[in-house]
Amino acid sequence: MGEGAGVFVGIGANLGDREKTLRLSVEQLHARPDVRVVGASPVYESAPVGVTDQPEFLNAVLKVETRLSARDFLDWLLHVEKQFGRVREKKWGPRTLDLDILLFDQQVIDEPGLQVPHPYMLKRGFVMAPLFDLAPQAVHPAFLKTVAELIAGMDLEVGLRRRDEIDLMFCGE
Ligand code: ATP
Ligand code: CA
Ligand code: CA
Repeated sequence: MGEGAGVFVGIGANLGDREKTLRLSVEQLHARPDVRVVGASPVYESAPVGVTDQPEFLNAVLKVETRLSARDFLDWLLHVEKQFGRVREKKWGPRTLDLDILLFDQQVIDEPGLQVPHPYMLKRGFVMAPLFDLAPQAVHPAFLKTVAELIAGMDLEVGLRRRDEIDLMFCGE
């Protein structure tokens, strides 16, 4: 696998104890032996987009190693979301936990219920800022550009606050 490849997951929470949800969900993702969380970006606090009348989000990006297919990996993410009590109500509404596949190696997938790379990632500072922190050399397989190249010209700082005191890779014992 080249330096530009990897599986990257966007993680977000805006209800309840958001920091605890992020920490526990990283542990839960890692709970099966065929899924390894090998890296985590800094955490950002961001104002909600779309439905703006809801609490602020905490967002980060995780790097994962897995032998699962993208579809089976998505099913695992949806399963973990459910364990954290996620109820799907309105689109883009508040949620205890949101796990999105951003990049899955260099795969381009456009199937019912699964689009990879994530179709909105380039528009979202709360995705691109932590992805850049974690993996500036990751390559977007459709645009054939690195994250560093893709964010050139993006105004990433708007509405984002980096929360350096939160470190997701120290999950406790
Ligand atoms: P957005 O996709 O704009 O970030 P969202 O995360 O709020 O919106 P959800 O309600 O969490 O949307 O997800 C709806 C469905 O999106 C999921 O059930 C899943 O099947 C589908 N989906 C398609 N592509 C992906 C992907 N790359 N990662 C996660 N879910 C995806
Ligand atoms: Ca999402
Ligand atoms: Ca989602």
